[in-house]
Amino acid sequence: MRTRIAMRAFQLVEWQEPPELREVPVPEPGPGQVLVKVGGAGACHSDLHIMQAPAPPIGARLPFTLGHENAGWVETPGPGVTGFAPGDPVLVYGPWGCGLCANCREGRENYCEKTAGMGGGLGGHDGGMAEYLLVPASRFLIPLETLDPREAAPLSDAGLTSYHAVKRSLHLLGPGSTAVVIGAGALGQMAIQILRTLSAATTVVAVDTAADKLEIARRMGADEGLLSGDGAITRIKDITRGQGAQLVLDMVGVDSTLQMAAQVARVLGHLTVVGLGGGALPVNFSSPPHECSVTSPYWGSIPELMEVITLARQQKIKMLVEHFPLERAGEAYQLLHDGKIQGRAVINPHA
Ligand code: NAD
Ligand code: ZN
Ligand code: ZN
Repeated sequence: MRTRIAMRAFQLVEWQEPPELREVPVPEPGPGQVLVKVGGAGACHSDLHIMQAPAPPIGARLPFTLGHENAGWVETPGPGVTGFAPGDPVLVYGPWGCGLCANCREGRENYCEKTAGMGGGLGGHDGGMAEYLLVPASRFLIPLETLDPREAAPLSDAGLTSYHAVKRSLHLLGPGSTAVVIGAGALGQMAIQILRTLSAATTVVAVDTAADKLEIARRMGADEGLLSGDGAITRIKDITRGQGAQLVLDMVGVDSTLQMAAQVARVLGHLTVVGLGGGALPVNFSSPPHECSVTSPYWGSIPELMEVITLARQQKIKMLVEHFPLERAGEAYQLLHDGKIQGRAVINPHA
């Protein structure tokens, strides 16, 4: 079967303007590249930040197709590509590095020294909210085997980013420990499940401004769901006998959540800022607590993505997916913006 020559793509055409569904050419895979028939492309909250950004990200060019959380089936392996055949279900690793610098050689292409881990859908290359996605190298494809690309797409960002953020702090999460997840949206829900499965000993506390998200968080394994505010801070202090949590994951990153995070983290703990809310955290001798490390991880590594797929195959983690056809991508982002997506909205261009 021949791939078509034109396709529909959901593109950002002007900064701070709504994206548009446009007709564009289907890309041809060159040597080493792979054309993927898109099964699912997740609508990540970062896309809202990109669309609303006052200044374009460095290296960005318009127009480009949105969607950096992608999965599908191999359509056409380019010349020289081995190990993949048409029809293979694959998850796309999102941050596309050079493959040659020290970080890339360790599989941490999210921290590539040359490309800063900018992948498709983030401004430099076209993303997956289209019928087909051109992936620049076959090493960015991970076989999904039994998993359905229409459901699995969020593993590549919501799953991987949360997995990396939790895994780097696992040594703190021994018996009796507490982890706090602020923001129980797509990433937060993944983090709760990952904390539950990687660390049986930890008390997991979810904090959100939306009661429905807290209900979902409890269903996904959170021991407590707390509405954001002073009451949440008091309760977390109670749970931790006044000491604070070993790990605080801030999946929002605005001033008020960062402030809360600093108040509920403990001495020698980890305060991990994942959310791109644009807030700032004042640092002085007594806040955050002594020797509490603050870090801002970006995405995760290729080996970690393979581990995430394993957890999904073992049914230890599952994203709550709401499906949308490509022509409703704009509506999906509007619902995400309004807080009306329960887990992750995934665009299915071939639904
Ligand atoms: P989402 O919209 O699915 O979830 C956000 C959640 O935060 C919602 O449940 C919302 O109710 C809650 N929330 C909003 N304000 C809050 C507050 N003041 N206190 C508590 N909860 C609050 O978003 P998502 O797709 O899960 O993304 C979460 C954040 O992570 C975004 O900022 C996104 O840009 C960022 N992100 C970062 C990386 C990375 O590599 N660091 C990767 C992906 C996404
Ligand atoms: Zn994202
Ligand atoms: Zn590199």
